[in-house]
Amino acid sequence: MDQLLSVKTDFQRIDVFDTYDFGKLLTIDGTVQLTERDEFVYHEMITLVPYFLASKEPKSALVIGGGDGGTAGQLVKIGFDKIVNVEIDNHVVEVAKKYFPELYRSFEDKRVSLRIEDGVKYIQNTKEKFDLIIIDSTDPVGPAEGLFMEDFYRSIQGILSTSGIVVTQSGSPFYQPKALKMASNGMRKVFRNVSTYTAFIPTYPSGFWSFTMGADYEPTLRRGTKASTGKYFNMEILEGAFKLPQFVKEIIK
Ligand code: SAM
Repeated sequence: MDQLLSVKTDFQRIDVFDTYDFGKLLTIDGTVQLTERDEFVYHEMITLVPYFLASKEPKSALVIGGGDGGTAGQLVKIGFDKIVNVEIDNHVVEVAKKYFPELYRSFEDKRVSLRIEDGVKYIQNTKEKFDLIIIDSTDPVGPAEGLFMEDFYRSIQGILSTSGIVVTQSGSPFYQPKALKMASNGMRKVFRNVSTYTAFIPTYPSGFWSFTMGADYEPTLRRGTKASTGKYFNMEILEGAFKLPQFVKEIIK
């Protein structure tokens, strides 16, 4: 494995490696953010699951974090009219532009507006409403800590449309049960309906990842939805992803 870049920014350390099996790999503060080979699982699952379960077809989306462009790319592919992506660290975007141009490309789409600022502050100050809010953040230490807090979820509730839905990546249930607990407990204090789903992501710790979703109604597949597939996602995965192993149920109970 060759190291292509190591840079320390005001917020974090960013490294890029060229691996034998997974193409290029991006880490932040030593934790895997994505690889070229398996990024599709994370990016499909963080976008398509809430997209299909929102009570009305979402048209506008807000991404907090996601400076690599992968999540915005999925939203562009789905056909959202408006996508605002708020990333705190401009260096992540620059690194994506140079090393992950396929992902970065989404920021050049005219429907996407990229803002470089703290997601917590953006959410406190914006007057806009969104149908889908995706928290595509690093783990709850450093700049992302506030993104796992009850107050933050309350501010999010204030800018969600009535059919709106929010999803956050909530870590590896195996290695980071605290992150999952924080996300689930925090959301439960705010939203009427909170559920966790999981996906198989080979390069993330334990290969088993969780996402936690909140809404003020019970998310179900919209009537008349046409079956859809991604590279990982399909309609069986949409249903099956919510079936949780017992140890995961214990974490969020
Ligand atoms: N797929 C990834 C994962 O789960 O490992 C997340 C990828 S994305 C690169 C995470 C981004 O969240 C980072 O670029 C980081 O700078 C950004 N971030 C962390 N805290 C933030 C905050 N408070 N506001 C906006 N972006 C933030």
